[in-house]
Amino acid sequence: MSDSSRYSVLFEPVKIGAVTAPNRFYQVPHCNGMGHVRPRGEAANRGMKAAGGWGVVATQETEIHPTSDVSPFAENRLWDAADIPALRLMTDAVHEHGSLAAIELVHNGNHAQNLLSRAPILAPSDMSVDYPIPKQARAMDKTDIRNLRRWHREAALRARDAGFDIIYVYAGHNMTIAQHFMLPHMNQRTDEYGGSLENRVRLTRELLEETHEAVGDTCGVAFRFAVDEMLGADGMQAQEEGRAVVEMLAELPDLWDVNVCEWANDSVTTRFQPEDGYQNEYISFVKSLTTKPVVGVGRLGNPDLMVSMIGKGIVDMIGAARPSIADPFLPNKIREGRIEDIRECIGCNICVSADSLAVSIRCTQNPTQGEEWRRGWHPEVIAPKASDAEALVVGAGPAGLECAMQLARRGYEVTLAEAGVEPGGRVARESRLPGLGAWARVVDYRMHDLSQRANARLFMESALDAEQVGELGIPHVFLATGAHWRADGIGRSTLRRPPVLDGSVPVFTPDDLMAGRLPEAGPVLIYDDDHGYMAGVLAEQLAQAGLEVIFATPESIVSHFTTLTLEQHRVQARLIELGVDIRCNHVLRGVQSGQAHLACSYSDRVSPVECAAAVLVTERRRETALYDALKDSGLATLELIGDAAMPALIADAVYSGHMAARNFERDPAEVDADWFRREIPSLTVEGGRS
Ligand code: ADP
Ligand code: SF4
Repeated sequence: MSDSSRYSVLFEPVKIGAVTAPNRFYQVPHCNGMGHVRPRGEAANRGMKAAGGWGVVATQETEIHPTSDVSPFAENRLWDAADIPALRLMTDAVHEHGSLAAIELVHNGNHAQNLLSRAPILAPSDMSVDYPIPKQARAMDKTDIRNLRRWHREAALRARDAGFDIIYVYAGHNMTIAQHFMLPHMNQRTDEYGGSLENRVRLTRELLEETHEAVGDTCGVAFRFAVDEMLGADGMQAQEEGRAVVEMLAELPDLWDVNVCEWANDSVTTRFQPEDGYQNEYISFVKSLTTKPVVGVGRLGNPDLMVSMIGKGIVDMIGAARPSIADPFLPNKIREGRIEDIRECIGCNICVSADSLAVSIRCTQNPTQGEEWRRGWHPEVIAPKASDAEALVVGAGPAGLECAMQLARRGYEVTLAEAGVEPGGRVARESRLPGLGAWARVVDYRMHDLSQRANARLFMESALDAEQVGELGIPHVFLATGAHWRADGIGRSTLRRPPVLDGSVPVFTPDDLMAGRLPEAGPVLIYDDDHGYMAGVLAEQLAQAGLEVIFATPESIVSHFTTLTLEQHRVQARLIELGVDIRCNHVLRGVQSGQAHLACSYSDRVSPVECAAAVLVTERRRETALYDALKDSGLATLELIGDAAMPALIADAVYSGHMAARNFERDPAEVDADWFRREIPSLTVEGGRS
C-alpha cells in the first residue's frame, strides 16, 4: 500500500456542527506568546499551520472580559469589538488555505490575576488565586454568573464576526472558570451551581447552550474538557465524574476536544513520559458516549499511530500542539508520503518556556517557529543560493548540522567536518542521559535530510586545524565548534569568590560524565549553577548507578529553569525519590580536604559536607581556538555559530545555525538594518479620547 493510501483516512472531511473540516488534522489551542500583543505574528504563525495542511487551526486561549486578564502573559483577547480586527488577521490567514479557524474563548476565574485590569477576581467560592501572591478571588453571586454568561455569549458573537468557524467553551487545564465550577474542592456553593455534579456542571451546560444558540447556525461549538486531573481519588477521574460529565453533556457540543490536566500532564515532556499517545488510556471512553466528533492529543506526530487511533475508534480527529509547532507541514508531508521528512517533536517544552516568559514562541526542532511574520521565515522554504560559492561548516552539533542542512537546501556546495566519530555534538551526548533519548531526533532529522543531498558532504573524525582549513581552500567558513563545561566552579554565584578546589577529591564536569568518566565512589557533590536540566539529569544518573549524591544549588529549588518547561516539580520529586540529599540556597565555597564547603545564600553560614568527588555544573567555555587561529587569514566568511558564539539551549544553537545559513551572502548592511519587524502599538486612542 502506498503511503498516501495507507494514510488516506486522515484526509477525510469531518463535520463539526455547521462547518466541515477538510481533514482530520486539528491544531488544538496552544499558546505562542504572541496573542493580542503581537497579532501579526499570531496570524502568520497560525496561517503557516493552515498552509501546512492542518484542517483546523485554533488560537490560544482568548480572554472574554477584563475580569479574565492574564497579563503579563500574551494570550489572545476579545474583551470588546476593538479586538476583532487583530483576530481577523488570523482568520483571514487560516482561511486563505481552506482551513477552519477555531477560537478558544476563556474566562480564567482565579487563574487570572487581573494585574492590568485590576478587576475583581472571580471564582465559584471565596479562595486564593492560582499564584503565590497575597490576593483572593471572590465567590460569584447570581449577578456575576449572569454577567459571565452574557460576556461569553457576546464574545462568541464577536468571534463569529471576526471570522471564526469553531467557537470553544473551555473547561480544562485547571485554568478556567467553567472547570473550576465542576471541581468540588473549588466549588463550595450551596445554590443550584454547587453540590451535586449536575449543579456543578450547570454553568458549563448554560455556556454550551448559549454559545450554540448565539452562533451555532453558522459555527461549530467545541468543548475542551479535561476528563482527568491525574490526581487519582483526589481529583476528577476519567472513569468517575469525568465520565459522568461526558454522559451529561454528550450531544451538546458539536465537537469534544478532550485531554488530561493540569498543563504539565497534558504537555508532559519526553523526559517524564516518553510514549507518544500517552493520553489515550484516559480519553478513549469519550467516543462511546457521544455521536459528535472527538479530538485528542498526546504528542501525536506518528502517522501510523494516528491511523490506528482512528481505526480503533479512540478519536475522530488528530489533535496536536507540539507536533504542529515542530512541523507545521506535518499533514502535507503525510499526504505526500514524505514520512521521513517529518520534523518530529522531541518533547523538550522549550516552546512552553516562551509562553511562560511572555515572548514569542520558539522550538528546538523548528527554528522558524515564531519567526513567520517578523523575519518572514518559512519552515520549508529558503532562498536559493546567490552564487556558486562553496561553504565549510566545522562541527556537526545542532548548530553545524542546521547550518549545513540549510545551506545545502539553498543549493550551495557544503562540506561539514566533525572531529568526533558520530554527528550530533552535544545532542548526541545529552540524548544518552536518562530520559533524554528523544532529543536524538534533532540529529536524525538533519542527518536524514543531508544524506539526501548530493551537494552536501560530511566527514567524520576530521578535527580540523587552521592549516587544514586553509588547505581545503573553501572561502566561506562557519565554525560550530561548541563549548565545554568548565571545571573551576566559576559561574553565576561564584564570580566574586571563586571556589577553592584543593585537589583532595576528583572534580568532574558534565563532559566527563557524558564521556563515560564517572566518579568511582560517593558521596558525590553535584553543584548546579546552570539551573537547566543538566545537573538534575546527572544527579539522576549517578543516583541510579548506586552512588550517594548531594545536590547543591544557590537557587531555592532544584533545576530552576525547568519550571518553564513544566518539569521542575517532577525533577525535584525524582531526586527525592532517588534519595538525593538536596541542599538548596547554598553557594559552593570550595572542596577542600575531602569536604565540600557550602555557604547559605542568605546567612553565609558555611556547612562542611563530606564528599569523595565533585561534579561542577556551572558555566561553559566557548571553543574558539580555531576561530582565533583563522581570524586574520583573509577568509571571505568566518562566522562563529551555536554554542561557540553563545553557549545556550540546543534550540538557540539550531536557531543560530539557521540564521547564519539564511543570512549567507546577504548584504551585511541589509542584515544589520533588517533585525526583525516589530509590532509597534498604534498611537490611535480608542473612542477618540486623547
Ligand atoms: P553546538 O551546540 O553549537 O552545535 P556542539 O558542542 O554540540 O555545539 O557541537 C560542536 C561540535 O563541533 C562537536 O561535535 C565537536 O566535536 C566539533 N568540533 C569542535 N572543534 C572542531 C574542529 N576543530 N574540527 C571539527 N570538528 C570540531
Ligand atoms: Fe516539541 Fe520541543 Fe519544539 Fe516544543 S520546542 S514543539 S516540545 S521540539
